[in-house]
Amino acid sequence: MLVDSYGRGIEYLRISITDRCNFNCIYCQSKKPWKWLSSEEILSFEEIEEIARVSSELGVKRIRLTGGEPLLRKNVEVLIKKLSQIAGIEDLSLTTNGYFLEEKALILKAAGLKRINISLDTLKREKFKKLTGKDELNKILRGIEKALEVGFNPIKINVVVIKGFNDEEIIDLAKLSLDKPLEVRFIEFMPIGKNPLWNESKVFYIAEVKRILESFKKLEPVISVGGGPAKSYRWEGALGKIGLISPLSEHICKNCNRMRITADGRLRPCLFSDFEIDLKSALRERKTSLKKIFELALKKKPEKGLKNFTLKPMRAIGG
Ligand code: SAM
Ligand code: SF4
Repeated sequence: MLVDSYGRGIEYLRISITDRCNFNCIYCQSKKPWKWLSSEEILSFEEIEEIARVSSELGVKRIRLTGGEPLLRKNVEVLIKKLSQIAGIEDLSLTTNGYFLEEKALILKAAGLKRINISLDTLKREKFKKLTGKDELNKILRGIEKALEVGFNPIKINVVVIKGFNDEEIIDLAKLSLDKPLEVRFIEFMPIGKNPLWNESKVFYIAEVKRILESFKKLEPVISVGGGPAKSYRWEGALGKIGLISPLSEHICKNCNRMRITADGRLRPCLFSDFEIDLKSALRERKTSLKKIFELALKKKPEKGLKNFTLKPMRAIGG
């Protein structure tokens, strides 16, 4: 078991398998345009598999593939199959913008993917286009239906709430949880990658999200499994759930159970700190063992992240 200097057990690894994306979400942009990594700069499937194997030997039980858009990686199902066969990995999940799900949901399920999170911040076509740069809301909605149809359950829907942009849709988005096994999770807009849009006045705090949700129907707390940052609730009588994630307004760091691997192959102990260790070079040069790198990262994991602008955008860190 990996335990950091503050006694937190680390059993969850989020791996950004590409920084590339077919969307350009306004909250995911960085101050300077992000220059795509070359294929040599990102980790190969074999390298990701080796990292997963070593980390599982060290006590990692859950892996999430993210990006960029992870479904842009060619033959991602081959990687999923390999990772799903690693003995210690009990939970293998993926975060996606949903664009490729209509075609790929079944293949992903068959390859051994256990769970899926889909980002969807608005149900309005024009707003969706403004937010992502693509007029593809209906395709995403069809992707969600497909994922339900092939049996992903639960499916989490990630909503970043931006004041004055989509806050008036909180109830409509949460209504997706009424008659489907969807967990709609509201997330505070974070100052990642020197995002040009971010300033404090754009943050819609989770306490206010909760108040709005309760004005529609009573929220019942639900015990959440997996120790993540979301507090889970259910509207009375709903099939699905509602999750509230408050990285800015609440101290979520004390229960942090994760580390990240960035798209350029660096082990990042904390989302909110730019400290990273070059795992990729260690892997390629074979001078330092991966185990040593993990141990060093664990020692360096800060007690609390600085709620400050980080240098890399979310797509490179792996949100
Ligand atoms: N492309 C995939 C997607 O959009 O789901 C996976 C990568 S994306 C970087 C992962 C998650 O990060 C998404 O749910 C997205 O909403 C979230 N995210 C990106 N920028 C964010 C920000 N500034 N604050 C909060 N969440 C953010
Ligand atoms: Fe792409 Fe996801 Fe970032 Fe949107 S949030 S630009 S879909 S990586």
